Amino acid sequence: MSIKILGNLFGALAISLIAGSAAMASGSGGASGPEAHWSYSGAEGPSNWGSLSSAYALCSTGHMQSPIDITHPQQAGLASMEIDYRPGALSIVNNGHTIQVNIGKGSSLSIGHAKYNLLQFHFHTPSENVVDGKAYPMELHFVHADANGHLGVLGVFFKEGAENPALGEIWSKMPSKVNEVQNHKEVIINGRDLLPKNMDYYRFVGSLTTPPCSEGVQWHVAKTPIEASAAQISQFTKLIGNNARPVQHLGHRLLIDSASGGAATH
Ligand SMILES: [Zn+2]
Repeated sequence: MSIKILGNLFGALAISLIAGSAAMASGSGGASGPEAHWSYSGAEGPSNWGSLSSAYALCSTGHMQSPIDITHPQQAGLASMEIDYRPGALSIVNNGHTIQVNIGKGSSLSIGHAKYNLLQFHFHTPSENVVDGKAYPMELHFVHADANGHLGVLGVFFKEGAENPALGEIWSKMPSKVNEVQNHKEVIINGRDLLPKNMDYYRFVGSLTTPPCSEGVQWHVAKTPIEASAAQISQFTKLIGNNARPVQHLGHRLLIDSASGGAATH
């Protein structure tokens, strides 16, 4: 009897560990925990995330939370981003919070001395970060980690306009089934095709925008939006709905605009 109880205990533990690692691999911020279900509205919505689980406490107690309203940034010369994203077969998952594209090894983002490896990218409608109080209809987050596991995110806004061919390739395989990674060897995608030509950016320190809202994330948001058609944006919204966390207080954080206004800085 005690063996059976132990067996059940180990079984339950194994299941929760597997669930935990699956959540780690597919979490929209790269590190969702298995502790508590959360959503974008109602009792499990953003204003209550911090009380859904002790693991989510930072969602309400943190002082460096994302997203933010990007307004009155300080002009400063910053190192330009060196983006080396490589093509690869599409691996895509609907994790119930967003559509996420998983990226194999070999794609990186370097800024100054920091080098980040691209892990995944995913989408939010409307945008999470806003500029002077104004949201864009969609935002893409490229999630990276450096060799020590420190996270760096590159955000790219979409404005409504022309149909986006690279997005179309991804959307053609948008999974409605939740938490099942779907691999499409025949569809080759490259995150590079979802970047604006001008990579001037805003920079600040923030957090994951989903529970557990972990802080210390280095944020870079491209100033120039790319385009997607109204139909492409609504294709995502129809399936996922609103998945944007409201903006958080900037507090004492520095918000920097990489454009140096003509000053010779780098
Ligand atoms: Zn995100």
